[in-house]
Amino acid sequence: MPDRDSYHMTPDEFREHGRAVIDWIADYLERVEEFPVLSRARPGEVRAALPTSPPETGESFDAMLKDVESIILPGITHWQSPSFFAYFPANSSGPSVLGELLAAGLGVQGMLWATSPACTELETLVMDWLVELLDLPDRFRSTGAGGGVIQDSASSGTLCALLAARERATGGASNVAGVRDRVTVYASTQAHSSVEKGVRIAGIGSDNLRHVPVDAELRMLPDELDRTIAADRSAGAVPAAVVATIGTTSTGAIDPIPEIADVCRRHGVWLHVDAAMAGTAAVCPEFRWINRGVEGADSYLFNPHKWMFTNFDCDAFFVADRGALLAALSILPEYLRNAASESGAVIDYRDWHVPLGRRFRALKLWFVIRHYGVEGLRHHIRRHVELVQAFDAWVREDPRFEVATPPSLHLVCFRLQAGDEATEALLARLNDDGGIYVTHTKVEGRTAIRMSIGNTLTERRHVERAWSLIADVAGSVAGA
Ligand code: PLP
Repeated sequence: MPDRDSYHMTPDEFREHGRAVIDWIADYLERVEEFPVLSRARPGEVRAALPTSPPETGESFDAMLKDVESIILPGITHWQSPSFFAYFPANSSGPSVLGELLAAGLGVQGMLWATSPACTELETLVMDWLVELLDLPDRFRSTGAGGGVIQDSASSGTLCALLAARERATGGASNVAGVRDRVTVYASTQAHSSVEKGVRIAGIGSDNLRHVPVDAELRMLPDELDRTIAADRSAGAVPAAVVATIGTTSTGAIDPIPEIADVCRRHGVWLHVDAAMAGTAAVCPEFRWINRGVEGADSYLFNPHKWMFTNFDCDAFFVADRGALLAALSILPEYLRNAASESGAVIDYRDWHVPLGRRFRALKLWFVIRHYGVEGLRHHIRRHVELVQAFDAWVREDPRFEVATPPSLHLVCFRLQAGDEATEALLARLNDDGGIYVTHTKVEGRTAIRMSIGNTLTERRHVERAWSLIADVAGSVAGA
């Protein structure tokens, strides 16, 4: 029989270990650039180093931290490394981590306004701040018919947009057999895979997702979109939504939103805009051109958890008409009824996304915006864009290389003139080296290396070092 009546960590123990963890994180971030960026762990290695069964008696916190250092850390790919140039960043920052910690400490579940008014009201405020910060259309403000909500991911935001669009297009009859099968959705061939996933989850089905062709710069062709929607409608389909992208994952392409919005308006189709990575650029007035036409969108999202120094998860999702979202997602069981909700004076965010429960994510975003201020956010985004432009110029100046796509604000896609085999050999050697981590894409069937610049800790010296490594390693690639 246990000889104690509580196994909980005492407040004093929590203070002591909490300080140790904060110190550990600060030390980690100070030394993060010393690690090989891509983990060297082989499949099964981390698990094999850990006990197969849980401990019968509790262990010391020191022992846990030691295992983090010796077993977990070697199995980490260092997303916070300043030399992480793969995929898109998943940024973190001091104020964000502390906001996350505070959210965990409060342990709030903010499904209803009543279950923690501050959780809802701070979120509403911060989402309205984002509208101002990025100069997004007023229709996304909570003070009108629209509003914003924090979702876990862009994938979830896109799914919710598709669900709202489906309900609007079918007049709420999407559960009726015969109607359900006729709903169609449109996105360019370059759209993120989350669109097809959302279409599947929404029960629309991959067959009813139309992949609209793109121009030479990989932007959706509005005329093709127009033609496809018209043809579908004549054939009895129910066109529900178009998903356009500002900053595609593959190459950073920006769809022509004003023309697409025009097509959507004429056909009465919901326009959802996915600006997951690029959206943050609009904190700088000089980059706001990326959002041209967004005033014609029914919904819009971007991920502060990519470029806005806010750790995963934090997607900012906005709708112009929150009624459409609620019509798709609101179900009110007796046990959630409460006076505040029934007064109509409060927002219950449970109805704005898939899960019922919700974390207090607004805290970290609030901390980030307050810590950096508009000035600080602009400063860092401008620096990143300058680094992208510098890297793009270095690639163009080296006759062994070529850029594969027009410049983007946050991404350079490049390759060796010598062809795919050489580019792929270069990529493999770079990632083996460990000094940087880059990933690839295909541009018109040819392999390109993606250099995504935008990590919290990335400075000019890291990008210079990356380019000198790339140029050096290219020297040892056959044919380059
Ligand atoms: N949309 C775009 C354009 C992206 O680049 C990504 C991820 O890189 C996503 C959607 C998916 O983001 P999430 O992981 O938040 O679902």
